[in-house]
Amino acid sequence: MIASKFESLAVTPEEVEILDREHHEPEYFQESQMLNIFPEATKYVRARLKELGEQFRMLDDLESKTYENLQVSVPNAVEREKVFNFLDATFISPKFKKLEREQHKLKQMLGWKNKKHTFSLRIAKSKLITELLKFDSGGYARCIWHHESTPSLKYYKEDNHVFCFGCGKGGDVIDVYSQINNCSLAEAIKALS
Ligand SMILES: [Zn+2]
Repeated sequence: MIASKFESLAVTPEEVEILDREHHEPEYFQESQMLNIFPEATKYVRARLKELGEQFRMLDDLESKTYENLQVSVPNAVEREKVFNFLDATFISPKFKKLEREQHKLKQMLGWKNKKHTFSLRIAKSKLITELLKFDSGGYARCIWHHESTPSLKYYKEDNHVFCFGCGKGGDVIDVYSQINNCSLAEAIKALS
């Protein structure tokens, strides 16, 4: 199953932290001492960090575009989420982790604190649909995809999704935002992050 494959491959920020720790060199090697020994390398370290920043931005774009393209090719929101998560876990997250590890080492060399890069798509997805729509005590709201007088749009707290039992449409916080504000998914991701 695609979904279970994703679950085993997906990496949370906590896991990145653990991976970072596991990849730390033994005590006798300190990145922060490197530039004391080779100060000439400082400009290369800075230049490489700039390149990495560029690559983070490209990955960010790739992630958002992948998400947007899937809306056309996979209309079913649940199915789309599975395909996206699979692509993300297979192609984007591994590249992201690799960049992050290199960035971490270079920043240590310069004695900088490592502020982790977070993709705008991830930030957008972390926003709750309940901040955009009001749900009744049973977790229902009036559907934003079709006109109705009795609420049949159900909110699922566990994965921050909605599904309409009236028209069968639904989606995540990005779908909801783009439907409410009549904008593209890319615009929704930008607005939410
Ligand atoms: Zn509906």
